[in-house]
Amino acid sequence: MNRLNVKNPSGVTTPFYYYDLELLSRTLGAAAAEAQKRGYVLHYATKANANPTLLKMIFNAGFGADCVSGNEIRRSIECGANPKLITFAGVGKTDAEINLAIDSDIFCFNCESVPELENINALARAKGKIASVAIRINPDIDASTHAHISTGKKENKFGIAAADLDSAMETVKSSKNLKFVALHFHIGSQISDMNVFANLCARIGDFNRIFIERGLPPQHLNAGGGLGVDYSDPDKNPVPDFAAYFRVFEQNLKLRTDQTLHFEPGRSIVAQCGSLISTVQYLKRSGSREFVVLDAGMSDLIRPALYQAHHRIENLSSDKPSAIYDVVGPICESADCFAKDIALPQTRRGDTIALRSAGAYGEVMASRYNLRDLPNTVFSE
Ligand SMILES: *Cc1c(COP(=O)(O)O)cnc(C)c1O
Repeated sequence: MNRLNVKNPSGVTTPFYYYDLELLSRTLGAAAAEAQKRGYVLHYATKANANPTLLKMIFNAGFGADCVSGNEIRRSIECGANPKLITFAGVGKTDAEINLAIDSDIFCFNCESVPELENINALARAKGKIASVAIRINPDIDASTHAHISTGKKENKFGIAAADLDSAMETVKSSKNLKFVALHFHIGSQISDMNVFANLCARIGDFNRIFIERGLPPQHLNAGGGLGVDYSDPDKNPVPDFAAYFRVFEQNLKLRTDQTLHFEPGRSIVAQCGSLISTVQYLKRSGSREFVVLDAGMSDLIRPALYQAHHRIENLSSDKPSAIYDVVGPICESADCFAKDIALPQTRRGDTIALRSAGAYGEVMASRYNLRDLPNTVFSE
């Protein structure tokens, strides 16, 4: 059986995130090569993992950044992102964040409401500058993913609803300090059904046509992120199939001359290179259940508690015949459970456990709940 090979020469204590930088490098190379072939531009979604070591590698590979806060813009620039390749999304941008983005001369604001467009125009006017904006459209598409990571249905808070598009177009046309440059879409995350992206292409094509007819030709189209990864078998599919993903857009979305297609991949870039490494504290039985209690909990990796996410769990210390366990953390919440009824090699106190595919939405969501320390980090190489 395949098992993660963790090198921890300096003996960092668990729990820690282990990042396989060689795998990250391969993933970046594959994504960049497939995008380049087609003239697509990639902005890495910083919120998936904002660890400076990873960010430096990602921006060094030529990726732009997709940010959702002022601090993400600041961190991205510090780690080498080209401001001219930074997009800024989010439904609640504050004046301070907008001012920072204007001062940084970012590529564009992905705007999520008419009042936001008006506010960016006012703040740009006060600085005597022109802010480039994209209109983020809510295309009312079912991403066939978990409800908490679906963002493109009309009941979600994201994007400008079709009913408000007239008003958004008028606002953009009449605002002297806004330059309309793009249409933006992002319909959800961990999407593995390529038909969902084909449907998205059809909607992007429709809106592209409407905006051209209405005298606002978008120079750029931005399809957002959302490509899923293989959480059940990370060693079989360590690098997502970027070629298949981009091919869907190539085949289903007709770009006009001079139009550029952009993407904002997050999870697909960083999920597989990260694992949360933990030590078994205790084994404990209750009724018919046998619990493996780890020193890592939902404060280190909240995805299972937050959206019933599944991470492959490996015992790196034992080859004994398997038994059935519930794997839980030490935190005082019943939701602090990583898996129920899973088969693991017979497990003892002190064994090392890996929670795989934890590079995306793992370390960035860690908290100090129960006043625990934040998880450590270890890098391969
Ligand atoms: C979160 C987010 C992304 C990245 O999504 P992934 O599923 O991680 O690829 C891209 N664009 C926007 C606007 C986002 O909010």
